[in-house]
Amino acid sequence: MVSRVIPVDPFDLVIFGGTGDLARRKILPGLFRRFCTGQMPSEARVIGAARSEMSSHEYQQMAAEAIREFGGGRECEDGTLDAFLERIRYVAIDARGTGGWEDLQKLMAGTGRIEAYYFSVAPSLFGDLAERLQSYGMADDDARIVVEKPFGRDLATARELNNTLAKYFDEHQIYRIDHYLGKETVQNLMAVRFGNMLFEPLWNSQFVDHIQITVAETVGVGGRGEYYDKSGAMRDMVQNHLMQLLCLIAMEPPARFDPDAVRDEKLKVIRALEPVEPHHIVRGQYEAEPGDAENQPDYRTAVGNPRSSTESFLAMKCHIANWRWAGTPFYLRTGKRMSRRSSEISIVFKDTPHSIFGDEAGRHRNVLSIRLQPDEGITLGVTIKEPGPGGMRLIDVPLDMTFADALSHDDVETVDAYERLIMDVIRGNQTLFMRGDEVEAAWAWTDPIIEGWQARGEVPKPYDSHSDGPDAAEQMMKRDHRAWRKV
Ligand code: NAD
Repeated sequence: MVSRVIPVDPFDLVIFGGTGDLARRKILPGLFRRFCTGQMPSEARVIGAARSEMSSHEYQQMAAEAIREFGGGRECEDGTLDAFLERIRYVAIDARGTGGWEDLQKLMAGTGRIEAYYFSVAPSLFGDLAERLQSYGMADDDARIVVEKPFGRDLATARELNNTLAKYFDEHQIYRIDHYLGKETVQNLMAVRFGNMLFEPLWNSQFVDHIQITVAETVGVGGRGEYYDKSGAMRDMVQNHLMQLLCLIAMEPPARFDPDAVRDEKLKVIRALEPVEPHHIVRGQYEAEPGDAENQPDYRTAVGNPRSSTESFLAMKCHIANWRWAGTPFYLRTGKRMSRRSSEISIVFKDTPHSIFGDEAGRHRNVLSIRLQPDEGITLGVTIKEPGPGGMRLIDVPLDMTFADALSHDDVETVDAYERLIMDVIRGNQTLFMRGDEVEAAWAWTDPIIEGWQARGEVPKPYDSHSDGPDAAEQMMKRDHRAWRKV
């Protein structure tokens, strides 16, 4: 299968924080890949804007190094990298002051291209950037801003941020990015659900036993200790990424695949989430790796806070109070320093009402698994007869879905979530971006849970490095006569 690349209209993308980690690892290499495929038109420009003083030439060299290091080894025709670098400019800018703004204004004046401003800086600078874009005349009706996570740390701060941005930009100009939504398989989840007759009639509490969403990392907090300790798994992962995945699984079919229709349905799911009982949550903190505590220290050492009560692991059981999902639990699990790096959503269907084969044959359940990493793909486990003699014994095999082959095609695989989402910004398509009310609703659900931990002085349970988290997470499932899937 050859992927069809439709070029976007000419644009100027300003990357505030253009010298930072995210710009070097994801944004610049992603744009280069879009340039290689011809999707980024040759007139488009990329303008790095950050605090460091440097020339455009020096910035181009920095971009070239980032592309070599993080570009995923994509082969382009000779000279393509030089042609891409040609399209790059740099402006030294002070987000809090006046330095550099007139230079940027001149660069952006009257080009007639689509203008996009990527806020790849600390959220404390979002308001300053938005205000200056307006005062220097760059916030026209067609301009777009892309804002990175974290979007607030609770409902009050998210609301404040929404109100600040709303002073300068309309909601249709604000792209709150959650890169999980840019993953090929996440969009395929919607295609599978709403493009087939097969699944949707079964997609409810009558036929689905439960749903599991696991996002597991093997790494610890690394160099982000100070930030992470103020945040934890709930704020860093659940409130945004896991919540977005849950919404896509649980939402009602939108009338159209358009931004507001999809986001209206997601919002309804968040608003229908029930408060979570404290005994349906397990929090953990990882221990040091035995024999390598120096390089892989325990969580508290890693964040430099010996009394930290922030969780690096979270498992929880959630319920959605609506007709479709009443009685079907959604189990969420995420953690650092776990046994495997893996993200998977599993829809576990109920047992057949009666086994005509008797108990000796074994009872099996259909499971639809949507794997986001490491290898994106979707499998459906179906029950068949074990081949060979010996009577009727049942086994599970993955149903061969031919699109799994299509997903592994080179051209498709190299479209990283960031580059896909940046192209959506240029196209003006907000479907895969979070709306302000969605983010606020997610915090409104999250806040009481975090406040409860604080009020009760709860301390996370220790868990072995590179394990599946605290034993209490397994026990939580056992009490429900279920088990976490091996992901
Ligand atoms: P970073 O610290 O590596 O880079 C920060 C950038 O901001 C630098 O280019 C710096 O020059 C610029 N900057 C800082 N103060 C400035 C000022 N006063 N005026 C102008 N520029 C200024 O940060 P990062 O890791 O690239 O993260 C950027 C944003 O993206 C943050 O909001 C972060 O939470 C978010 N994010 C990052 C990642 C990631 O993988 N790095 C992932 C998800 C979200």
